[in-house]
Amino acid sequence: MSAVKESGARRVADLGCGSGKLVGRLLSDTDIERVLAVDVSYRAMEGARRHLHVETMTPRQRERVELVQGALTYRDRRLVGFDAATVVEVVEHLDPPRLGAFERSVFGYAQPRTVVLTTPNAEYNVRFANLPRGSFRHRDHRFEWTRAELASWAREVAARNGYEVTLSGIGPEDEELGQPTQMAVFSR
Ligand code: SAH
Repeated sequence: MSAVKESGARRVADLGCGSGKLVGRLLSDTDIERVLAVDVSYRAMEGARRHLHVETMTPRQRERVELVQGALTYRDRRLVGFDAATVVEVVEHLDPPRLGAFERSVFGYAQPRTVVLTTPNAEYNVRFANLPRGSFRHRDHRFEWTRAELASWAREVAARNGYEVTLSGIGPEDEELGQPTQMAVFSR
């Protein structure tokens, strides 16, 4: 949320919105004029609709938000024209061979001015007492990147698509392992 605010974005697309938690926070900020929420899962969209009380919103609120089903690995005109896109804990749900398609549709085609992307920091996993060694944080995760792995992917994506990228983290910092969540903020 603070990365979105720092970018000065007024039109924001939340890509892979899940249950719509971030969408709700974006909508409660009056500087944000419009929010598009996208997810490939119809069930997630239904959950988001309920969570956000879309049916009982005032017409004015209703005008600011749109929830659509869509896959981030296919070019989609509805995603064009946003100041910022948020991709929060989503990339690690994509099969690695589809990362190129995701890159082309978001960075190459939709081209938001800012992309705020977060993903787990795999190095930090050993600090989670209940997480067996070598397993992912979620059953649907296809991979979890170390800081070096995200950095290398993010720099290549930025270079190929005309963005600059800044890497940081979210959560309590371990001197050796970094923070639990990694964040990459791309700007065009
Ligand atoms: N951003 C939310 C949800 C993260 S869970 C949050 O932080 O709470 C990951 C979400 O990505 C799921 O809702 C899943 O349905 C969605 N997702 C996975 N692959 C996708 C794809 N190819 N296109 C769009 N959404 C996708």
